[in-house]
Amino acid sequence: MAEAATETFGFQTEAKQLLKLMIHSLYSNREIFLRELISNASDAIDKLRFEAIENPQLIEGDADYRIDITFDAEAGTLTIADNGIGMTRDEVIANLGTIARSGTAEFLERLTGDQKKDAALIGQFGVGFYSAFIVADEVEVRTRGAGSDEGVIWRSKGEDEFTIESAEGIPRGAQVVLHMAEDAKEFLDGYRLRSVVRRYSDHIGVPVRMVKEASPGEEDEAEPSTEMEAVNEAKALWTRSRSDVSDEEYKTFYKHVSHDFEEPLSWSHNRVEGKLEYTSLLYVPRRAPFDLYNREAPRGLKLYVQRVFIMDEAEQFLPLYLRFIKGVVDSNDLPLNVSREILQQDDRVTTIKNALTKRVLSMLKTMSEKEPENYQAFWDEFGEVLKEGAGEDFANREALLGLLRFASTAGDSAEKNVSLDAYLDRKGEDQDKIYYIVAESWEHAKNSPHIEVLKEQGVEVLLLFDRIDEWLMTSLDQYKDVQFQDAMRADIDLPGKEDEAEDSEADDEHSALTERIRKVLDEKVEAVKVSSRLSKSPACLVLGQFDMGAQMRRIMEASGQPMPESKPIFEYNPAHPLIQRLDQEADEDRFNDLALILFDQAALAEGEAPADAAGYVHRLNGLLLELMGG
Ligand code: ADP
Repeated sequence: MAEAATETFGFQTEAKQLLKLMIHSLYSNREIFLRELISNASDAIDKLRFEAIENPQLIEGDADYRIDITFDAEAGTLTIADNGIGMTRDEVIANLGTIARSGTAEFLERLTGDQKKDAALIGQFGVGFYSAFIVADEVEVRTRGAGSDEGVIWRSKGEDEFTIESAEGIPRGAQVVLHMAEDAKEFLDGYRLRSVVRRYSDHIGVPVRMVKEASPGEEDEAEPSTEMEAVNEAKALWTRSRSDVSDEEYKTFYKHVSHDFEEPLSWSHNRVEGKLEYTSLLYVPRRAPFDLYNREAPRGLKLYVQRVFIMDEAEQFLPLYLRFIKGVVDSNDLPLNVSREILQQDDRVTTIKNALTKRVLSMLKTMSEKEPENYQAFWDEFGEVLKEGAGEDFANREALLGLLRFASTAGDSAEKNVSLDAYLDRKGEDQDKIYYIVAESWEHAKNSPHIEVLKEQGVEVLLLFDRIDEWLMTSLDQYKDVQFQDAMRADIDLPGKEDEAEDSEADDEHSALTERIRKVLDEKVEAVKVSSRLSKSPACLVLGQFDMGAQMRRIMEASGQPMPESKPIFEYNPAHPLIQRLDQEADEDRFNDLALILFDQAALAEGEAPADAAGYVHRLNGLLLELMGG
């Protein structure tokens, strides 16, 4: 028979980069290659089971699904073999020569060169098959796709290229043969290998087998045993009862479904019986994936129907704002041939989705109460995403609001760790509002003139500075019957004020000055008012009750939306020396300059540039010159 031709291919650039990085950064965590390869083998068997529902001939008479792990210390090889779906020639080239995941380029850009940080990132990306090169000098994949009669051998030393050749007599499925590197020979030891394999296969639903261990006294060198025995329970983890599963097993299973290197923060495993029967196992990751805000990024749960794997990334079982949750849902009621289209409109799916949403929110609540440090870590990673939910999920709004965390004037850092409940608990009796301010940054919020009096009165103000905050707050009205009050807006009610009388008295007393200022700022402002919220600053700009705030305006403008013009209200502090000086100014030109400067400064204090920056500088310089006797 003629030698089969061998073809050589270059790795895709991204694949090459990733390979190199991985080998270096994962060296101290080498044994995970077994987790990844066992995981792939198990997925391949899941896929065959699924395909065989419609095409039973793919089974080829061998439905005895298994993963066999063998080694040959002399030859220096370790082999992971499965009888799953296998790969055709084209699939081998596509799957093992390129990284098809969206966002690969973006991912590579994020790498910092700091090995520790990069290792964590690589973990999130999912290294999968390439992890074989952490321990192997050369990898050989012998595979035949179910239903195909051409076998293929893929070989690579993990450098620039790989080869492909056709071969006969290859069984269905894939055998991954690792030619172990000199410093990874420790894995070519039955005892060591067995302990690692067991760790990574207990949660797997098919038998993972190794050569039967010789019992003591039977160690006959002449005839080594070749009998295989399962080293795992071969029962899918979520089908077991909660009390039978150890934390270690839950964590390992998490790594299997999520491809995450880090341990989950929390999980919730539940079986529901009754009208609908399903089991769910949901995990909260510790770290946000790099593509959390990428709309195209895969998300969702692994869907099983009656233990049969149906699809990855079934996103119909959780709302978009819970896209970071990982796990499995196994339904007894959905049909095996269910498609994404059917999932989208099925009432049973909607019911499960609503229940899983509540399940996640209650898991988070429990975490916030019992493990506040973990919850804080969660909030720092995923808080902004949860705010999406608070803004749009009316059915769960109260629960979501209870989970929010903010920075506030009670603290002295930008850390977001104040819950609305804590706020309500410590507010004064006569305070009937939840005060907040939205700004560009924590510093801007904290130092904003708008909250001077509130701060002096010891009223706590929530300091909001996430991109999503203004949008969020416009959709919120109250929490536990207490209204939210934006400190930037007109008609602010300060706590402990008897009635409106004080305000109007102050307005009357200064009506002449108000009128003079209004004439100068006429074009620029909606109104001029005496302020009750200022103590240190001479003036500030406030928004009308229904005007769009600066943050939203900037976001909308950046997205190219034409914005209607809106004018602020100019509030001044009659007790401030500059205002008192202004009041006494008889020279109209001087008065105009001063009023305009105060207006521009109020914008500056909010982090906004004056509309006419050159005019502002010119006027200010005029005053400076006078001051210096020029
Ligand atoms: P991932 O598993 O995250 O998709 P991998 O790099 O581990 O990434 O694998 C890439 C692809 O190669 C898999 O998606 C699968 O299609 C294919 N593959 C890997 N191992 C096997 C296997 N044992 N049998 C069949 N296909 C496999």
